[in-house]
Amino acid sequence: MKVFKFGGASVKDADGIKNVYEVLQQVGHEDVLLVISAMGKTTNALEVVIKDYVSKSPELQSSIQEVKKYHNQILIDLFDDDKHPVFAAVNHIFSDLESFLKNNKSPNYNFVYDQIVSQGEIVSTTIVSHYFNYRGLKNQWLDVREFIKTDNTYRDAIVDWDQTQKLISKNVKKKSLNITQGFLGSDENNFTTTLGREGSDYTAAIFAYCLNAESVTIWKDVPGVLNADPRYFENAVLLNQISYREAIELAFYGATVIHPKTLQPLQKKEIPLYVKSFVNPLLPGTSVSKGADLEPHAPCFIVKKDQLLISLSSLDFSFIMEENISEIFALLHKYKMKVHLIQNSAISFSVCVDDKFGNFQELKTILSKKFKVTYNDNVSLYTIRHFNERSADAVAKNKEVLVRQVSRETMQIVTK
Ligand code: ASP
Ligand code: MG
Repeated sequence: MKVFKFGGASVKDADGIKNVYEVLQQVGHEDVLLVISAMGKTTNALEVVIKDYVSKSPELQSSIQEVKKYHNQILIDLFDDDKHPVFAAVNHIFSDLESFLKNNKSPNYNFVYDQIVSQGEIVSTTIVSHYFNYRGLKNQWLDVREFIKTDNTYRDAIVDWDQTQKLISKNVKKKSLNITQGFLGSDENNFTTTLGREGSDYTAAIFAYCLNAESVTIWKDVPGVLNADPRYFENAVLLNQISYREAIELAFYGATVIHPKTLQPLQKKEIPLYVKSFVNPLLPGTSVSKGADLEPHAPCFIVKKDQLLISLSSLDFSFIMEENISEIFALLHKYKMKVHLIQNSAISFSVCVDDKFGNFQELKTILSKKFKVTYNDNVSLYTIRHFNERSADAVAKNKEVLVRQVSRETMQIVTK
């Protein structure tokens, strides 16, 4: 069996969905599991709904309307017959969402978030599945929440591999086309959970692992894994073949083509991962597999914007030692800061972090009791794998460099 993942950009409108159909015609769909994300920017739009709901904003109705209108337009563009059952199916999903908003009593933000945001994937797969059937491409729609079981860490749920393995081996029909949702799972009470933003790649890897799939293909609007994000860097080049190790490094430092959690399950079973273009599906793209990287390493550039650089120094010029550092890390962990760079000297300690959950002010208050805390917000963290002088200079040019750190293969630069 092969696992294919199509992200939001590939199904952002009716033409996109028709194109996914064409891709399957070209590359085959006999023994395939399709993992599909929410359409276009739906997840962001649902985050607005959540914000309006939680803050009891009068905008709530219009933000829901926005999401409905967008999907409705796609339905109109895809189906000639407005009596087609897909219209009722999609309506049903939205009325479920509206009754949840009306009846929910839970004050748990992350729980509420998952119950709402998940509807993006439920709607998108419903539309795609109906559309393929309508075009004569028979498929099964699977509710991924009946397969991927997780704990109840809403918004960042941890997979229960044993249960998931059992459910997938027992219930996924091979030798046919299956369509399911990325990003979602369910907890022991069958409430919806999510695996973290952009988690659909990871879903594809979970299925591939449990099915012992032949391969995973992530279909993108770029030709494969590039050495740099073309939005921020000129002259990006395609990496034809890279090792799991290199791909893990790139994803770890923030290359967004592959979600970082995706590679580990694949690497364990040596399942190859292909990253290909949904515009030119027959081109080879990038293959990620076991073994050495076949090419001399081109410098790879990764940028993370909107980072926070926190520097701590002791109040009394004493050294920052193991106990302090472990305490600092315990706090960073507690406040869910993702650490992307660490630098220490005798009396100061700096970290570049992502404050995804907006916890810095609270953390700062606690840290300030023991340390002098200074910080820069809104900094950019550049990582260059396989750097050389030229590539490093190009990144630092015209910027104020706050930190520069060099290891054998990797240079990291924090700039303002
Ligand atoms: N729809 C989710 C998101 O936008 C998951 C994904 O696309 O991978 O984060
Ligand atoms: Mg996506």
